[in-house]
Formats: sequence, C-alpha cells, structure tokens
Amino acid sequence: MCGIVGFVGESQASPILLDGLERLEYRGYDSAGIAVINDGVMQVEKTVERIKSLIDETQNGATVKGNIGIGHTRWATHGAPSHANAHPHLSGNGKIAIVHNGIIENYLDLKNELIAEGVKFVSETDTEVVAHLLQKYYKGDMLDAVKNAAKRLEGSYALAIINTDTPDTLYAVRHFSPLIVGLGKDGNYVGSDVAAIIKHTKDVVYIDDGEIAVLTKDGAKFYDGDGNQIEKPVSVVDWSINAAEKGGYDHFMLKEIMEEPEALRKTIEPRIKNGEVYFEGLKLTKEKVKNIKRIVITACGSAYHTGIVAKYMFEEILRIPVEVDLASEFRYRNPIVNSEDLVIIISQSGETADTLAALKEAKARGAHVLSIVNVVGSSIAKASDDVIYTWAGPEIAVATTKGYTTQLAVLYLFGIYAATLKESCDKALIDELISELSTLNKKIEKILENKEEIARLSKKFCTDDSVFFIGRNIDFAVSLEGSLKLKEISYIHSEAYASGELKHGTISLIEPGRLVVALNCYEALSEKIYSNIKEVTARGAQVMATAFEGNEEIKKYADEIFYLPRIHPLLCAAVEIIPLQLFAYYMALNKGCDIDKPRNLAKSVTVE
Ligand code: GLU
Repeated sequence: MCGIVGFVGESQASPILLDGLERLEYRGYDSAGIAVINDGVMQVEKTVERIKSLIDETQNGATVKGNIGIGHTRWATHGAPSHANAHPHLSGNGKIAIVHNGIIENYLDLKNELIAEGVKFVSETDTEVVAHLLQKYYKGDMLDAVKNAAKRLEGSYALAIINTDTPDTLYAVRHFSPLIVGLGKDGNYVGSDVAAIIKHTKDVVYIDDGEIAVLTKDGAKFYDGDGNQIEKPVSVVDWSINAAEKGGYDHFMLKEIMEEPEALRKTIEPRIKNGEVYFEGLKLTKEKVKNIKRIVITACGSAYHTGIVAKYMFEEILRIPVEVDLASEFRYRNPIVNSEDLVIIISQSGETADTLAALKEAKARGAHVLSIVNVVGSSIAKASDDVIYTWAGPEIAVATTKGYTTQLAVLYLFGIYAATLKESCDKALIDELISELSTLNKKIEKILENKEEIARLSKKFCTDDSVFFIGRNIDFAVSLEGSLKLKEISYIHSEAYASGELKHGTISLIEPGRLVVALNCYEALSEKIYSNIKEVTARGAQVMATAFEGNEEIKKYADEIFYLPRIHPLLCAAVEIIPLQLFAYYMALNKGCDIDKPRNLAKSVTVE
C-alpha cells in the first residue's frame, strides 16, 4: 500500500517529492514524510496530517533544499500513525534514510539481533530495522550494503534509500511490492506507481523482484540480487497526466464513474471483431479452452464481487462448475486445483498481495492462470500465464468504480469466448450477448445523464444508519458490491443479502423506516423479489428498487424506483452497479466524508 517517490537530478527534490506524494496519497494517508540531502546533511520532515500540511509547513519544499530525496505516504501496518512511526526512517548515525512499502515479516528477529548489538530503536515499525541493517552492512560500498541487507529481509518490500556518504546516488530495491524507475530529462525518479512520476516522464523501467536500481542525475543502472549488472527494457507509459488529475470534478470517484462508458468502450471494442470475441496472443489455446473442466476465480474485495457475477453468467452459458474464492482464503487452505482447471485472477492494481499469493499457489498446482488486471507490467500481470488488461486508465479513488465495471466487461468477453469454443449454449444467445455488450457504454452514458435523480434519492435516505441490499442471482452479486461501496466511503452500516436468505435470520433487523435497496434487473426472478419486498415492507421498511425501463409492476411494491436501460439479464450487473456507485457517492457527499480517501483504507493492498 503506501506511496514511495524518490528523485535525484538537477532540480530541487522537495517540490517534486511533495507533488508526487500528493498524487500517491490515495495509496495510504496515515502520515507522510520526506528526506533530502543538502551539502552532505540529511533533513527529514514528517507530518501525521495529510500531505497538504507537509506542503504548508515546508513552504512547498522551499525550506528543505537539495537535489536528492525520498518521500513516503504511509498506510500503517506496524505501529500507530505517529510522528515517530512516519517514514522516512533513519539509521542510528543519521546518515541513511529509507522509505518502505510492505511488511518485513522477520523484523522482530532482526530487531532483537540489532538491539543485542547495541542499536537503539525509535519507532515501532518493522521498517526501522532496514535502516539499521543498512548501516551495519555499509562498509564504503552502498550497493553492497543494499544487496546484503536485502538478503536478510523476509516479507514484502519496496525500498528507496539515500545515504549522506553517497549524496549523488539513490538506491531502490524490491521484493513483492511495486517499484518503478522513471527516466527524465532533468533527473531520474523512483515511484511505487506511475502516478508519482507521470508529470515528469513517461519512460519507465519496471523493477522485478530481487532487483536493485541505482540512480544518479545522469541515468539508472540495474543489478540482480547478487550485484551483477543487468539490462532492463524501458517502457513508455501510455496515459497522460490528465488521467491522474481531477479535471474539474470535486472527487476522483465521480470523475471515474463518469469515465466508465469510455473505459468500457476501450476494454470491449478492440476485442470484438466480425461479430466474435477475439483475444490477442493468449497462451491458453482454443483446444485448451474447449477442454476446461472447471474454472476457479480468486480475488479480493470488489474484484471478488465481479467473480461472483461471473460465476452466475459462466455457469449459465458454459455449463461447467465455477468456484469463486477469496484470495486470502484460497492461499491458506490447501486448494484443490490442477492442470485441468483454469484459474482466473482478478486485481485492478495487479499488486494485491493476497491475490498474488493465490496466483502462485494455483500455478504451483499446475493450473493455467489467466489474470484480469488494469496496471500494465504489474506483478500479477507478469506472473500469470496469460493476462487480459482492462483498459480503465488510472483509478485514483480508493473505492473502485471503473475498475469494477471493466473487470466485468473482460469476464463477459471471456465467458462468451469460451462458450463459443465450447459450443455450450445457443449461437443465438452468444450473438445477442455480443451485440448487447457493444451497447453497454451508451447505456451507461444514459444512466449517468440521470445522476441527479440518484442525488435526490440519497438526500432522502442519507440519515439512515443502516441499509440493506437484497437481490437474487446476478442481482445478489451486484448487491454485494453496492453494499461494500456504501460502507467504504459513507461509513453507513450495510448488509447485502440474497433475498431468499433474509427470512433465515437477518429480517430480524428490519424495523420501521429501514432502507432496503431491492435489485430487480434479473427479471427471471422478479416475482420472487416482489415477495421479498412485501416481506420487508410488511415490517415497515422503505424500499428503493432498480428495474429495467418498462417494468410497471415494480411500482406496486417499491417506494422509489431507479429505472435502467434494458440489457440482457446476464449482463445486467454492469448497468445496475452504476446507480449504486452514485448512491454511495452522494450518501458520502451528504455526510461530508472524505470520499476519495476513506478512513483506514488504501488503494492497492500490497500487504496481507
Ligand atoms: N510496514 C511499514 C509501516 O508500518 C510500511 C507500511 C506501508 O507500506 O505504508 O510503517
């Protein structure tokens, strides 16, 4: 999680670091700090407030001079968000400063070892051991020190390091945490993701596990874990700085919701050719697709919810069992997968630690792993047998929106592709799904034109302190995501329930006035959901329902209805989620919440 940025070059480092940190703040915002070397002296500034206060306190970096520095925005794992625990951390002699993303799992052993050698610790973090280890191993050659210290570390880390003895050189190393190097005209950069450095350069080098980068103002050199120099390809990032800015919107989340039609168009259009789904360069051969006996989908959070949508759709059109598992459970439960299974891994960032571990587990058991990822060059993309990218562009708001719908789009495409090869459903259905998929972006545009209606509904309901989402089949899968969205950003308690399950327990929580959001786009089961609505209204609940245009029947049951353009029910999740994303957004707005950076959360969950 957390954000790392580093710079060495001709310009003043601090303004670059602070700007990079502001762009990375979505990755963690418990505290922040920078360390800069000037004339051989290390200056460290930290805050337990947001980056803005660090900018104010340092007069946008004017009080922290120097051409080399590192910065960090923290998502605390070890130790509270305090000044002492904020990064950068220093070695005992104050000469080495480091920032760290991840968790050093063997930090206690290392700490005890260092304490026995007389080292004094000033923070509760796992990170601090690395600063002291670097001092211990530094005998005049910093590359050697980095190499030797890294060999002692277990867990996950991306580290950026500076040393007053080597004031022209910035070091970086990674293991299971993302790290990139940016090659610029006025200097060189490290970052935990592209957002940190896109303002300055689009030329990047993706560092792989165990590799070390050594940056000076003139260039970057790369080494393997044993210190041998290696060549690394330079990639050009294909998104612009505008993609990582709010562009007139109050929040990234709203901007990203409004970008959904375009993100879906980009994700879907190139993959439909002559009325058929087409994927370029898959190692998964057509023969293999025909023979898949079972699909296992594993992911976390919202990506997991897209997997549940896919289960309903895939089982319908592929007629093979589809299991969906939380990556954090899959990785630790001796999962049964083998070479006849296809494992689909879903992660927006491509860095989700649990998902990456699940991927490795699946591969070790011989399954073919296909991942659905948004970030090109990410760890999951690299580790998979095949990757299908969601072309959503950068997603900055912590709560995913366009990430979710574009993942759905890829799952839909893959389901249709596999059903075509397996001939597991009517050709007419396949043709219909393909043609419907091409209309998805236009339909979502239409929903977004009507967003004020959702704003009105959210005003009506924003004082509720608990909300229920119910649905059946795909509507149930969508309810999970609608409920999560609301919880994440508005802090309103909410439950998602398969509506048939309410009566088996949770209906006891329905009281007069309680808001129940009833999802009703999977029309094959409308009669059933009407009965469930009756059950809750009989107990005083207010019901807000979704329905396809033309559904008059629902008016008999629901207090408020949000109508959606009609689409094939197997694809309804991608339209039905839009009003729920907007609902969560406006509910949070009405409550004055920090929408893009909800408390305790961070984007790109790179710790377990
Ligand atoms: N584990 C470190 C800490 O708690 C780094 C956390 C992060 O990635 O922000 O300080």
